[in-house]
Amino acid sequence: MGRPLAIVRGVALLGLTAREVRVEAASSPGLPLLRLVGLPDAAVREAGDRVRTAITRHGLRWPGERIVVNLAPADLPKAGSAFDLPLAVAILAATGQVPIAAAAACWACGELGLDGSVRPVAGQLPLVAGARQLGAERLLLPAAAASEAALVEGLELLPVADIGEVVELLGGRCAPRVVEPLPRQAGVTGPDLAEVRGQPVARRAVELAAAGGHHLLLSGPPGCGKSMLAARLPGLLPQLTTDEALEVAALHSLAGLRSPEQPLDLRPPLRSPHQVVSAAALVGGGSGVPRPGEVSLAHRGVLTLDELLEVPRAVLDALRQPLEQGEVVLTRSRARVSYPAKVLLVAATNPCPCGYLGDPRRACSCRPDRIERYRARLSGPLLDRLDLQVSLRPLDPDALVGAASGEASSVVATRVADARQRAAARWGGGTLNRDADPQGLRHATDRRALARLAGALHGVGGSARAFDRTLRVARTIADLGDDEVVRTVHVEEAVAYRLPATRGAA
Ligand SMILES: [Zn+2]
Repeated sequence: MGRPLAIVRGVALLGLTAREVRVEAASSPGLPLLRLVGLPDAAVREAGDRVRTAITRHGLRWPGERIVVNLAPADLPKAGSAFDLPLAVAILAATGQVPIAAAAACWACGELGLDGSVRPVAGQLPLVAGARQLGAERLLLPAAAASEAALVEGLELLPVADIGEVVELLGGRCAPRVVEPLPRQAGVTGPDLAEVRGQPVARRAVELAAAGGHHLLLSGPPGCGKSMLAARLPGLLPQLTTDEALEVAALHSLAGLRSPEQPLDLRPPLRSPHQVVSAAALVGGGSGVPRPGEVSLAHRGVLTLDELLEVPRAVLDALRQPLEQGEVVLTRSRARVSYPAKVLLVAATNPCPCGYLGDPRRACSCRPDRIERYRARLSGPLLDRLDLQVSLRPLDPDALVGAASGEASSVVATRVADARQRAAARWGGGTLNRDADPQGLRHATDRRALARLAGALHGVGGSARAFDRTLRVARTIADLGDDEVVRTVHVEEAVAYRLPATRGAA
């Protein structure tokens, strides 16, 4: 006769979506053997060895009998080392070393070291948040991840540093550790806008981008301040709420970029991948369950792409769907996962391959056909989504010496926050003007302004999509001026930001 079935609950993640996994262990007489069933991946299969070593090295008993562990449901892929802890608890319960009832009352996620230590895994935060969403009340987890987990409300945490502590805690021989939630990190992201002198049009475009969430293209010769401006954009965005920051932190945790001891960052993220980034690194990918890419790591913040025209066309094309839908959908044979990707894209480009076209300081050395091919690489549909296009002139060093420093980020951020509030009150939820409904937009637009916009875009072969997108920018311009109606003057400014690249001007 074997003992009763021991059950512990664990969590499998498909993207940020959590699914419950029941880890069931049964022991029965027979040759000593551990069998794992239920679609474990290689890391989960190796868990058997890790758990065995950890248990025996910690002076606990490894059973001299046959143990079968089932991970249910069987059709759900289980990946990674987060199943070590539930597996160990289930085996300890099946072999009478912790009470079966105590094991059944809790969920568990964490990795075991060979020395029996319990350690956080990549994705620890979304695992904890997922357990809570699935209805977990008590959670066994690595002590090093407890303060981070305490940010997720409504969970009784049972932090453990090693497998010995699991036995003590579930056996009722010690009380759970007291956990202090992680501090939150506020303040401004990155450097200040006051340090940028000159470039009034580009500064205005950066403010509009922050206020309405419109994607931005900065074109100009090297050294004109494109990257300086892009780096200052996150500092103009409102601070994240705790829930938003947890969502961003969960994505960074999944990508292995976040240590559970790091404070919760309330500042919007800034991601600046190099132009040789692969499509998988940009939008997400990898074998097994795909991991989030740069566009999701920049969720609720800013993604900058320097030298946009050096980025391969296929990589740029991969960006279109996330920019349009605010999420990335990745399909693999065993899993279809989606990651949020609401980003503000700031792309920068040189006017030509050498960078000096139109620059009085230095002659452009590019042949006309090379310039043509260079520009053709910027795909039409992606260009269509860059609503604010600005050509920056080279800075005149003499003019800079006398130029007053620009407005500080905090001043601009206040205007941005006000404009965002107007948009949110109008559209509901946290909707930005970038995502505003076309019907609603037309309703609050002056008739002459609509006619002016149609005329201006007709002249350059603008699409219906371009019409709506330009109107959204005009809406943001009106909001920054605290005007409830979109007027001709707003439309004219918005059209001016769409034209430079459409014309192919430097
Ligand atoms: Zn050139």
